[in-house]
Parts: sequence; C-alpha cells; structure tokens
Amino acid sequence: MNATYSLIEKRVRHRSEASESLAVTAARLADSLEKDVCDFLVASDQNLGDMEVQIERQSRELLRAAAEKAAQKKADLTPPVCPVCQQPLSRRTSDHRRSFECKFGTITIGRGRGYCKRCRKWRFPADIALGLAETAGYSPRVQEMAALLASKMPVSEASAVLEHLTGVKLPRATLDREARRQGERAREVRRQEDERASGASPKPVQPELVLEPYQMIIQMDAWNIRERDDWGKTRALRQGGQEPERWHWVYTGTCFRLDHRGKTAGGRPIISERGFVATRQGIDGLREQLHAEALRRGLGQAAGVLVIGDGAVWIWRLADDRFKDARQRLDYYHAVQHLAVVGRALFGEDKAKFQGWLRPSARQLKNQSAIKVVHQLEEILVALPAGASAETVQKEVNYFHEHQDRMDYRAGRRRGEPIGSGAIESTCRQAQCRFKRPGQYWSRQGDESLLCLETFWRNRRWHLLFPHSADPSKN
Ligand SMILES: [Zn+2]
Repeated sequence: MNATYSLIEKRVRHRSEASESLAVTAARLADSLEKDVCDFLVASDQNLGDMEVQIERQSRELLRAAAEKAAQKKADLTPPVCPVCQQPLSRRTSDHRRSFECKFGTITIGRGRGYCKRCRKWRFPADIALGLAETAGYSPRVQEMAALLASKMPVSEASAVLEHLTGVKLPRATLDREARRQGERAREVRRQEDERASGASPKPVQPELVLEPYQMIIQMDAWNIRERDDWGKTRALRQGGQEPERWHWVYTGTCFRLDHRGKTAGGRPIISERGFVATRQGIDGLREQLHAEALRRGLGQAAGVLVIGDGAVWIWRLADDRFKDARQRLDYYHAVQHLAVVGRALFGEDKAKFQGWLRPSARQLKNQSAIKVVHQLEEILVALPAGASAETVQKEVNYFHEHQDRMDYRAGRRRGEPIGSGAIESTCRQAQCRFKRPGQYWSRQGDESLLCLETFWRNRRWHLLFPHSADPSKN
C-alpha cells in the first residue's frame, strides 16, 4: 500500500464517518449510556459524580460529530467569493483539510480555496464564515474560553482548569497566545464602542428615554502592578544611571446611576448596573474610556454628576477636565485617615486619648459641616508649641483647607449619596487579586489586553466580543 493510497483511504474513511447520520451515533450513545446506568446502579462505591463524568465522556463523540457535520456543511455552502472585497475567487480548488479544536474535541473539515485578484491573496471563505480565521486552530467557543479563563486566572492554571472541566486541551503557551489575540481584538472593539458613545462615529448611540431625574456617581482610583517590560535590560539601564521601573499604575474608574443603588434581600448594598474601566494607558486613557463609559451609562441625561475619590491630585484634574460640571467629594474614609494623623501627632501612643479624640471628630465631620472641623484643627494648631507635631498638624490643616469644598458629607448623606469611594476600591481589590498574584509579571501590551477583556466581562458586554454567547444569563 503506497502513501497516496493510504491518504485516499483515510479521506474516504473520514468522509464515511462524517456522513454517518447523527441519529445512528445518538442511538449508539443511548445504548451505551443505558449500560452505564446499569453498571452505576450496582456500583456501591460510585455516586452521581461518577455518572456525570461517564455521561460527559460518552456524549462527547456525538457532540463532536454534530459540530463537525455542521461545520462541514456550512463550509460546503459558503460561496467562493473573497470575504474581504466580495470579488469572485479564481484558481479554485476544494477539500483543503484543516483540523480545529472545538469544545467537544478535534474536528476536521475540508474547505475550498481560491485566489482573490483584487486583494492578491489566497482565501478560504469558509474559515471566515465559521469564525475560524486568524486562529491557530480553535473554534470560536474555545477562543472565548481561552479569553475568559486567561482574564480570570494565571495561564498556567487556566490550561489545567480548562482541560479538567471541559476536556478541551489547550497548552499553556497556546492558551496565552489565543487569549492575547482576543484581548487585542477587544481593544479594537472598545475603541469603536468608545467612539460611538462619544458621538465621534457615524453611528452614535441613541440615548435612553429618561423617566425620573437621576444623579450619576463617578469614582476613580489607581493601583500598581508589576511588569517585565524592562527585563533583561537591568544592567544597561543601571549603567545609564537609571533604575528599572517595574511597578506601573493601573487607572480604574466606575460610574453608576444613584437610582441603581439598592440592597439585596439580606441587606447587603448592591449596584444593579455599573460601568467599569481599567487601563494601563495612563490618566489620558482613563479619562477618555471613563467618559465614554459614563456616556453609555447615561451621563448625558443625568440631572447631576458627583465625582468621588481619595486625595490624589490627578483625580480632581481629570474631573475638572472631563466632568466639568460635576460636584467633587473627597472619600470620607481618607479624610478620617488624615484626622487620625492629627490624632497621632497630638496623643502619640496613648490609644485611649487618641480614640477619645478621633471618634467624635470623625462623627462631627460626617454629621456636621466640615468647616467646623477645620476651625477646630486650626485652634489646635494655634495652641501647639512649634515642633514636629505642629508641622504635622499644619500639613493636615492645609490638606483640609484644600479639600474643604469636597467634604459635604452631611448634605451628601441627606441626599442618599455615597460619601466614600468604596465601590471602586472593592473593584480594585478584586482586580488586584487577579493581577497581583505572587510571582506574576505583566507586559504593558499584554496586561492592557487582559484588563480590556476583564472590563468587557464586568460591564456585561462580553457578547460584543463573542456574539454566540449573547444569552445574558451566561454572562
Ligand atoms: Zn478580495
């Protein structure tokens, strides 16, 4: 038997397997499962888990066969035109084999190829129709799985978890590559969506009809992650008198309508709809992305806007720049931390005196006007002898003066508004869990892509990247 003959035989066999009716495969599966059920009933050491694994394993071939059949038929029906310029293809040949990993195992299809004279490129129109283009050999569902898992856990774990739970084998390096490719695609979709939201695209977003006036709350924060862009350059950088910078800021923001804030049955505060932005593209990146996100969440129709943040100067600059008419509020808990600094300067290690002073001061800041608290701090300062303590208190008095107009906590509470930036801080904590695991390093490009995937998921816009997962219950 020569090699050509064996190849032909292989193809024929492949064809006949593929052409076996699904009903026949299903009947064989049903028989086999019946037998497994019988075995399961007498196996005293097995619980339902064993049966679940068995059913899954047995059904896989039927599911795989169905996917392969569907893919082949769709490929056969795809017209031989260039998917880019729609010109008919020339020099056409058929049955070019390619294998892909799908959710149920490996499928092999034969598809047509042709040359596009206009693009001057060979084309496989079926690859586009099936969503297989540009991938290293993975179906759209597997591409989605890679993207989701890689944005949720380290790639080394993702590969093992994926295989354990779904049977899909995706080596670590491949999963990483596939996820990053999806991340790059996500960035492009984000750019288009942001343009649409800010009215810069010819197809702007139609604003929702507003029934009741509402306030929009915007919170910002930043945290840092470790990156390896400068790896291998350490010596060169140091010789040039530069210390390699490995920690980089991730800028994050969240926005939500005040009327979307509520409580669970158990009394836990929740925000039903919330926009989320995280970027490695600096303050400029955050400014544009957060503005677009706020527009998508109804900034344009809001009766008022409130920006809440810790004392970081960039937050207020960004607010002045992009949310000009917004009221600004300093996070209450940060203000209390500054009161605590004063307390420690006054009472040192005397915990009882420290608490005895801090508690009523913090309460006063929350329930009365901030100006009163500032005046009290000034009085304290006047009475202090010159020295380190006085210097510390002076610094804090300056801080409170600077933010005096941002400490309207009493009015804020009466209006039912948040006085802290807890919503963004908890989000940051969650994101940091993912991005700041010990020993994890990120490259600038890579982490922007993964952050982008993460934000699509959090903002419930995953279906824009993977339209096949449009069912909101899956997202
Ligand atoms: Zn073309």
